[in-house]
Amino acid sequence: MKAAVKTAEGDFEIKEVPMPEITRPDYVLVKIRSAGVCGSDLHRWKVPVPASVGRISGHELAGDIVAVGKDVTNVKVGDRVGVDSVVPCGECYWCKVGQYHICPYKGDIRGKTFARAFCEYVAGPSSHVFPIPDHVGYGEAAIMDVYGTSVHAINRLDIHMNQKVVVIGAGPIGLSLLDLVNVAGADGIIIDIIDHPLEFAKNTIGAYATINSKKEDPVAKVMELTDGRGADVVVDCVGGGASAFLLPQAVEMVRRKGIIGMVGMPSTDLNLHVDWRKLQMGEVDLIGVSGFYHWGNDREFQIVTDLLSKGKLHATEMITHRFPLEKINEAFTVAADKQGTNSIKVVLDS
Ligand SMILES: [Zn+2]
Ligand SMILES: [Zn+2]
Repeated sequence: MKAAVKTAEGDFEIKEVPMPEITRPDYVLVKIRSAGVCGSDLHRWKVPVPASVGRISGHELAGDIVAVGKDVTNVKVGDRVGVDSVVPCGECYWCKVGQYHICPYKGDIRGKTFARAFCEYVAGPSSHVFPIPDHVGYGEAAIMDVYGTSVHAINRLDIHMNQKVVVIGAGPIGLSLLDLVNVAGADGIIIDIIDHPLEFAKNTIGAYATINSKKEDPVAKVMELTDGRGADVVVDCVGGGASAFLLPQAVEMVRRKGIIGMVGMPSTDLNLHVDWRKLQMGEVDLIGVSGFYHWGNDREFQIVTDLLSKGKLHATEMITHRFPLEKINEAFTVAADKQGTNSIKVVLDS
């Protein structure tokens, strides 16, 4: 099969690689039809070789079931599916208590991963594929992974109707969270330093307010929008290691007894001037959010599948650019240049 294999810093080549196989009775083989380019893919793209040379990456994917192991009952050949690509070990403490999304051993252990999206076929456990109806496109289904994280954020941060929720960062994760803030019946205020995604947030998703923090003071504006009280929930969705530097602002704009969610991955060397006293005296909750698992009895990925199927999400509008897999280098260049191309979500089709 064909696969986009990283051969140099910032470069993929389409190569012929061995077909994956059904190695366990509960496995399925998926013909990949669409794969989303994630910020984390972009992050690894530019790092020097051999950090990920020879690897097939990508973790936002959807496709068709083309073969099933003998124990598979939830899908059959021909089904169209979205894929929850994070496969946990199934054996550690967290997996055993159902918190598989924070399994320290998840990912590429013993070949147990679906996170090989930039190629033609992938095999993995049937418990991680979710059938989609015919009216849902493969591209939309591929970016359910993005929405999964945001559903988990709504769950973890207890976002509910009539709240004022600030989303910092209007990348795909921030915009998908804004979409779900609306589904939850809260008011979403979104902050970024680029106008285009803010206009998209306002005009397409329906933000309560948008703030370009290069043009106006975001803390003052949030205070104005919340009767001087501060937001009920502030969620940091800025990726690329910069995230935690916005924690001081998040603390300033959250209300007492409010909640701060950390969705974007923070830098590891922090030297922050945070109003720790407000955190303590104001009883502000600081909550980490990572991946997705289940909400009550329901898989969060299934919640996304259902919302998407019912037309409640703006997944179609989020996809601004599509390329065939062969043009992966062009796709990554467009995805990395948000300002120059006005790209939001870039999807590869095969
Ligand atoms: Zn992703
Ligand atoms: Zn585990």
